Amino acid sequence: MNVILVEPADFVDARRVRLTDRRLTHVRKVHRAAVGDTLRVGQVDGALGRGRVVRLDREALELELELDEPPPPALDVTLVVALPRPPSMRKVLQQGTAMGVKRFVFVHCARTEKSYWTASALEPDAIRRDLLLGLEQARDTALPRVAFERRLAEFLAGRYEALARESLVLVAHPDAASPCPRAPTTPVTLVVGPEGGFIPSELERLERAGGRRVTLGPRILRVETATVALLARLSPS
Ligand code: SAM
Repeated sequence: MNVILVEPADFVDARRVRLTDRRLTHVRKVHRAAVGDTLRVGQVDGALGRGRVVRLDREALELELELDEPPPPALDVTLVVALPRPPSMRKVLQQGTAMGVKRFVFVHCARTEKSYWTASALEPDAIRRDLLLGLEQARDTALPRVAFERRLAEFLAGRYEALARESLVLVAHPDAASPCPRAPTTPVTLVVGPEGGFIPSELERLERAGGRRVTLGPRILRVETATVALLARLSPS
């Protein structure tokens, strides 16, 4: 936890928060903080800054806040991922968020297991927890938005077409002829396939609608590993 994130419900007055959950435990057990110490704090979807510890015991942590810094710049990448198995999805959410992604779209593909759509990891509270873990890791405050598209045809005719008009669409595929570009200066939509790969007709449809196939080389990486490696390529250097 590289920043303690606070939300409106934590405020006991204009500048003071009281925390009684895992943030209290973390500050006591990991930071081993004491009254008078200053910790990095941010408000979800707000500013970053500092919090001075004014109370710390088994029941509560109270901080006096001074939040006056902007969060780090976002990565201008919309991350579209074929819905993977729940543990991979959680890693994509946490690590993508830590790398600055603010828009995730999970889509259904031919090789997506139907059962993944009913996983508890897709519940709004579970998603929010994973996004917060990513923000805490990266010392960021801006909560990403997450969308789901259960019909590929509708996604291609709707949101994907709009994204192709507004951004450079890169379809990650190990066998592509072109390498993934480094630090492009335009907004990017990055499409990552399922563990079993896209079927040929999906690749064709993604290309026909404006996507360009790109590769990281011949090694076949797991969804979450490929996602992080691709985002690193796309990040400003
Ligand atoms: N057998 C599948 C194939 O050949 O497409 C492997 C799929 S891989 C486990 C899952 C997804 O990660 C791929 O669809 C692709 O989007 C991405 N990926 C994995 N390795 C990659 C690489 N070397 N270059 C580009 N994308 C990669």
